[in-house]
Amino acid sequence: MKVLIIGAGVIGLLTARRLHQEGCQVMVLDAAPEGRPASWAGGGILSPLYPWRYPVEIQQLAASADHSYQRLQQELLSLDTAIDIEVEAQGMLVLEPEDAPEARQWAKDQGIALRSLEDSEIQRSWPYLKRGVDGLWFSECAHVRNPRLLRALRTESIQNGILQAEPLPVQALVRSGNRLDSIRLSSGRTLTADHFVVCAGPWSAGVLASCGLELPVQPVRGQMLAYQDPSQGQMQAMVLYQGRYLIPRRDGVILVGSTVEEAGFDTSITPMAREALQGFAEDLVPMFRGQQPFAQWAGLRPSSPRGVPFIGSMLDNLWVSTGHFRNGLVMAPASAELLTDLMLGRTTSLDPTPYQPRR
Ligand SMILES: Cc1cc2nc3c(=O)[nH]c(=O)nc-3n(C[C@H](O)[C@H](O)[C@H](O)COP(=O)(O)OP(=O)(O)OC[C@H]3O[C@@H](n4cnc5c(N)ncnc54)[C@H](O)[C@@H]3O)c2cc1C
Repeated sequence: MKVLIIGAGVIGLLTARRLHQEGCQVMVLDAAPEGRPASWAGGGILSPLYPWRYPVEIQQLAASADHSYQRLQQELLSLDTAIDIEVEAQGMLVLEPEDAPEARQWAKDQGIALRSLEDSEIQRSWPYLKRGVDGLWFSECAHVRNPRLLRALRTESIQNGILQAEPLPVQALVRSGNRLDSIRLSSGRTLTADHFVVCAGPWSAGVLASCGLELPVQPVRGQMLAYQDPSQGQMQAMVLYQGRYLIPRRDGVILVGSTVEEAGFDTSITPMAREALQGFAEDLVPMFRGQQPFAQWAGLRPSSPRGVPFIGSMLDNLWVSTGHFRNGLVMAPASAELLTDLMLGRTTSLDPTPYQPRR
């Protein structure tokens, strides 16, 4: 089965990887537009933020992410390129959630390790944090270093002849009735396949519109900052507070995220976002005062109603996997598994109904 995938973000690349493992002949095309894709720009937390508040459809796709990424880390390390995607199960401290009882009940139901901590216990373990806040400790929560993940997946895909190294923007899908005939590249070249998959993140709606299909996926900008660790290595846990978070990377880089902005396809960074994120960081970790972030960037999340992705077919041989909004990294492995099973006509381990594009 020959499959053409549009989009080399984490969703397109992991889907391609699974289909390739199943013996399909896969080709991934990417436009490589201005700016970085969300899969590079994100924080890489392998859990939705405040997961108990999310619909079950998202929780299901997120549930096995830790395992999947640990396995993927080993597989990618065993290649010649040996890029370490740095999956770190550091744990996440969630400060002052207003719905702590719901969180505790959710963790109990899901069998997820959770401890309630008083302000004094938090000060003992994380003395660099602001005083006077209590919280919940999710000791098993992990993150992946997603720019490395993307680099590792792209390198592997190019080596396997799956991803075309040069930018190949898809201009239009060419349809006849309930099937897709081909795709037309911006260069004018036409490519055919048995099956086509659109994984073009927030650009997916535009790609699909070229053959008269509609999908409610839109860009939502997120900005982040990076600091050097001011605590001499004490910062070793993710912290979530008032909707924003810190993520310590292995080499002492601390990410601070993120904004959620409706700005169309504009990937500019703004002084306003820098000020807001810097204010958050300095309030939460007073040691940041007087220190400047060394980087700021933006990415476009592919939003969808309730953040539930669209995974399934839109025509007989046209499939989509997109609209993962704030949780594309965590949901990517299970999304790739689900779409692969659907495309190969197998029984799926999750009920695919809630993800159907025509839902
Ligand atoms: C600031 C920020 C923080 C985030 N933090 C997290 C987090 O901690 N955890 C988490 O799980 N998720 C997080 N996310 C969300 C996550 O990054 C996204 O949901 C996910 O990366 C979406 O992946 P994707 O492959 O669908 O899209 P993208 O990564 O946007 O990839 C789409 C690809 O399609 C290509 N493309 C577009 N149009 C065309 C075309 N016409 N022809 C060919 N190719 C095309 C683009 O070049 C791009 O490479 C965050 C996002 C942001 C912005």
